[in-house]
Amino acid sequence: MNIYQILFSRMYLSNDDYYYYLNLLKGFEGEMRFDELIEKLKEYCLILNDLQLEIRRSSFQIDALLIFSGKIILCEIKNYEGVHYWGKDKFTKQNGIAMENPALQLQKTRVRLELLLLELGCKMEVEAFVVYVNPQFTLLGAPADEQLLLPTQISGYFGNLHTGAKPTAEQIKLADALVKLHKPDYPSKMPEYRYDQLRKGIPCTACGTLLETFNGHRQSCANCGKKVNVKNAIKTSISDFRLLFPNEPVTSSRITDWCGTGRRDRIFRILREEFVAKGSGKTRYYV
Ligand SMILES: [Zn+2]
Repeated sequence: MNIYQILFSRMYLSNDDYYYYLNLLKGFEGEMRFDELIEKLKEYCLILNDLQLEIRRSSFQIDALLIFSGKIILCEIKNYEGVHYWGKDKFTKQNGIAMENPALQLQKTRVRLELLLLELGCKMEVEAFVVYVNPQFTLLGAPADEQLLLPTQISGYFGNLHTGAKPTAEQIKLADALVKLHKPDYPSKMPEYRYDQLRKGIPCTACGTLLETFNGHRQSCANCGKKVNVKNAIKTSISDFRLLFPNEPVTSSRITDWCGTGRRDRIFRILREEFVAKGSGKTRYYV
């Protein structure tokens, strides 16, 4: 489970926020998928992920940049699913919902990147692709010269880029320069959250749905119907808490609240078994 998934299952979300976070989550999964696909290229080119850059006060974001000797490949990664009909400006889904053709965004990003590269004194050629990483994605009606890679084309395309040459000093210098220009403080994609905003409970070990009450050793998940091992789910819930709130002490009262409605002695026993207690009485916490 990553932090997005944990937050997604624990946040009270309005409809808008729900789709916003669902998109974040999908985007994150897409980037993970892409990383797996280009894993083999790592020896031959330099790969920069999630760059936040700026040129003449216009900011732009790059999902992935592959720096080869002599050319740069800019990738906009999309994790879309299902059948889409291509249009120059927009895609339409089978249910009629329309969305902007990601090629438009990619075009803007490419122009900004090229301007920035010129400022850095780099004259390398930039190739740009929208990379659709979800194997469940189909795009109908796209012209053959569109700068895009469909799920079935990705490994073939990147497979052909193996040059066998190790990155040169010039490539490394360019990558360093871009990393230095990266703005990590730019409003990040990580949603803000506070303890009191989050739903309390233990996650189903199969599907992640939150069970707000727990009882006994095994309990059915209302979403997927699987039998959840309550002890394991409590342990997962504790590690989720530590991931989301790394600076908060793990106390038995805090964890009892975090795990939803259930018996405090269960929590206490698990904390005592799995963690080391520090301090005593009301200030006792576990590490
Ligand atoms: Zn479940």
